[in-house]
Amino acid sequence: MPQWNCACANCAAARKGKIEPETQSSIAISAHSGEFQSWWLINASPDLARQIERTPSLQPRSDPSRNSPIAGVLLTNADIDHALGLFLLRQQEKPLVVYATDETRVALEWLDRVLARFCGIEWRKINIDFQTLNGCMALRAIELPHSVAFQFRDDTSGRSALVAPAVSEVTRELSDASDASDVILFDGTFWSDHELATVRPDARSAREMNHLSISGGSLDFLRQSSARRKIYTHINNTNPILMPGTRERTQVEQAGIEIARDGLEIVL
Ligand SMILES: [Zn+2]
Ligand SMILES: [Zn+2]
Repeated sequence: MPQWNCACANCAAARKGKIEPETQSSIAISAHSGEFQSWWLINASPDLARQIERTPSLQPRSDPSRNSPIAGVLLTNADIDHALGLFLLRQQEKPLVVYATDETRVALEWLDRVLARFCGIEWRKINIDFQTLNGCMALRAIELPHSVAFQFRDDTSGRSALVAPAVSEVTRELSDASDASDVILFDGTFWSDHELATVRPDARSAREMNHLSISGGSLDFLRQSSARRKIYTHINNTNPILMPGTRERTQVEQAGIEIARDGLEIVL
């Protein structure tokens, strides 16, 4: 936000400096702090280069001259706004490690072919059972229609985080995973099912775009969750929760749910 061709209330306010602009959503996760900390990206946004420059811990160390603390990327699905950032990582020497389902890998075959001329991609499968990601962090996938969510477990503290930025419905597995998580980052793309129709009359509904809306959907689900922190992420520029003082934002805040913003740091 702002989106280049959008003049909705949020985009207009962001252009006027009335609310903070936001880059497209990407999350970085790391198991422990320290000098040689490595990071995994959950989805690679088209704004990734800018996000790395704003986040010192994602930047290369001074020696050797080419290096990165980014160990690889975990994809929730094949959406273009989750995959375009992979192009920006093409200059590395080793193949780029990408965890994804077979369905996502097949859908990104075009990108695989382009990157083969640069570093290439080392595809890895994600399991529905916990697998070690590196050192003291474990990862498992929760399968959803058209996407996956990820659950991370810090093996030192035993705490878990659920990261679900693309959710079309709350399945039994997702509900169980959220019950067992200390922190939840959840799909906050749209407030209502027909939100996009206000800016583009022929737009598809949230449901048709595989997103469960907040109103009448995830708000009640998250309100009942006992997780220590619940945070909406992957918020579309049209969503009224991005505007301070709106009735919709107030409802989210009163439900004990936070609204992610660029640079938000969460300690599990
Ligand atoms: Zn907009
Ligand atoms: Zn997306």
